[in-house]
This record gives sequence, C-alpha cells and structure tokens, in this order.
Amino acid sequence: MNDELEPTVRIRQLKRDKVNFVLENVDLAFANSLRRVMMADLPTVAIDMVEVEMNTTVLPDEFIAHRLGMIPLVSANCDEAMRYTRDCTCISSCAYCSIILMLNVTCHEAITMDITSNHLEVMPMTDFDEGGEELTKRGQDFGHPVGKNQPNVPPILICKIRKGQELRVKCIAKKGIAKEHAKWSPCSAVAFEYDPYNKFRHTSYWFEVDEKAEWPVGENGREEDPPRDDEEFDFNAKPRKFYFDVETDGSLGPQEVVMKGLSELQKKLANLILGLKSQPEVDMLTGGDQTGMDTSVAPATGGGWGDNIGGGGGSGGWGGSSSPRPGAGGWGNSPGTGGSAWGGGAAGWGSPQQQSNGWNV
Ligand SMILES: [Zn+2]
Repeated sequence: MNDELEPTVRIRQLKRDKVNFVLENVDLAFANSLRRVMMADLPTVAIDMVEVEMNTTVLPDEFIAHRLGMIPLVSANCDEAMRYTRDCTCISSCAYCSIILMLNVTCHEAITMDITSNHLEVMPMTDFDEGGEELTKRGQDFGHPVGKNQPNVPPILICKIRKGQELRVKCIAKKGIAKEHAKWSPCSAVAFEYDPYNKFRHTSYWFEVDEKAEWPVGENGREEDPPRDDEEFDFNAKPRKFYFDVETDGSLGPQEVVMKGLSELQKKLANLILGLKSQPEVDMLTGGDQTGMDTSVAPATGGGWGDNIGGGGGSGGWGGSSSPRPGAGGWGNSPGTGGSAWGGGAAGWGSPQQQSNGWNV
C-alpha cells in the first residue's frame, strides 16, 4: 500500500551529539543497512601508533596506548580532509595522512595528578612537500581531542600519577573505519525501533503474569495506532516506519554521520550494480570509450563492495553531482536509460540472459 510513497525523514530532536529521527517508506533491510554503515563505515581520525619515550606511571605501556586510541578526535569532513596511509605517497606517515599529538606530563608536587585528554597537544604540520588539497579542508581543531579545554566538557582521564612520575609519549593519529577497529567509529550508539505494538510479532515477550503491564509501550507508540482487540494478524504486513536514535562520540556531528552514512550506502549500492553489469553493458555506458571503461570497472573489481574506502573514485556515483561522470554508474540517471536500468537492458538484472544463468530477480 505504501510502496508507492517516497522515503521520508522527520527529525524529532537534534542536539550537539545526538539526533532522533523517523525514517518512513523504506524496508527493514534498508534501515538496518543505514544503521550498520553509520556505525562501521564512516572514516574518522584516531590515535593508531604510540611511541613511548618515558613511562614511570603505574600503568603499562600497552594499557596507555589502548586508552589513547579510544580518545575521540575531532574528525569533521575527514573523508576529504585526510588520506589513508595506504593510499598516500609517503612511507609511514606525513601531514596528509597523519596527525601527531604529544603528551608530556610530569608530577612535581605531592599530589595525585590526573593526566587527561586536555594534556594532548597537536603538533603543527611541517612536511608539505607536495601539493594536496586535503589540508585546506580541515577545520581549525581537526585532530584535537573532542571537547579539549571546553569548560563544560569534562576531559577524558588517561592515567593518575604521583610526585616524581612521568609520562612522555608521541602519538600518531590516522584515518580509519570501525570495521578495522572500533576506535574509529563516530557513533557511541545507533539504534532503531519499529512496530512499537509488536503487530508484526517479530518479538515474543517473556512475561510472568500480564504481558501488557510488564512491557509498557514506549514513546514511539504515540506515532502509531494501537492494535484493536479484534484485529486479525496480518502475516503479509511489513515494517515501513523506523524510529532512529543516533548518538556520536563527538568526532563527527550527528548530521554529518547521517548524511555521510546515506552517501556511503549509495556508493556501496552503485558499486554492487556496477559489479553485476556485464562487460558489453559497461562498454555501452561509457560510449565505447575503452580507457574510460577500465577505470569505471576498477572500483568494483579492485575495491569490491564494502571496501570502497580506498578512494575508489566517483565513478560509482548514483546520480550524484559529485561524480566525475554521472552517467557511468548511474542508476536511473544514465544516458542509456534502457540499457542500464534494472532489468531493462540487454544483460541487466532480470533480463532473459541473466535469468537463464540462474538469476531470479
Ligand atoms: Zn602520508
């Protein structure tokens, strides 16, 4: 019934580090994909290497290194403002792919002193030997610990020291995603709820005496009609409305997390479609441009889906304006509409040729 409607987003609450919104007219798989992309596929900056010069604290080096890695660093616009070291021309680290933070604290008084994220100092960049526009896309506090020296934000405790103890370390922060290590996740919590009245019976409640009394309906119940007592169970019903809660650790703002999450998901789907296309069709899309064809196939074969983090390029754009050749991976925005549309072309999904090969879409 609602299948014809466009997807909509309604923001119910937006704060500095969290957003609550209602996503409608999409299916469950899409909502879950968005959740997973926001959690695990958005790049941020986090401390990745720690060189310990002096550590006379009670904590061992690796314990401190782990704590340093978990400190959220301001990563706004990280996908454009920084390179992955694996894509960089340098050997191990440079200004384009890393940020250096120093921690140098000694306790000289007979007190217990806290070493916190406020003691981490970002070192100024020095090695700009090559051209690269990444640096111009960084904000003023890019790479600084989140909330550093802000009076209303308590700093993150790293270690406690007494008189005569010292901690001196050099940290190298790098760009990464949470699929590699959870420290790169911009989110501290992402969750969604659907069907607050459990009309679809996707959940079975455990209860002692009275199910309704023991499982009160939450806030989201106000958005939907409660089930009538005589309502029959509709086993064909599908969830179409999702109540999202996205909370970030401060490295990225909630707005950036949702927007970048959606475009990352688009990129993944575009790469998937591109990967499913057979060679002649790609040829047709690029207008017989052989050199162009090679580069447009590269993201799908080289990076593969789920791994387009290596800056595979914009050829997987999904009608996006940022794509260098909007038609190349376009989905409904391609010059050869019939050829590239789902199930429309000579060898697209659902075409006779693919169906005979076992595709059943
Ligand atoms: Zn580099």
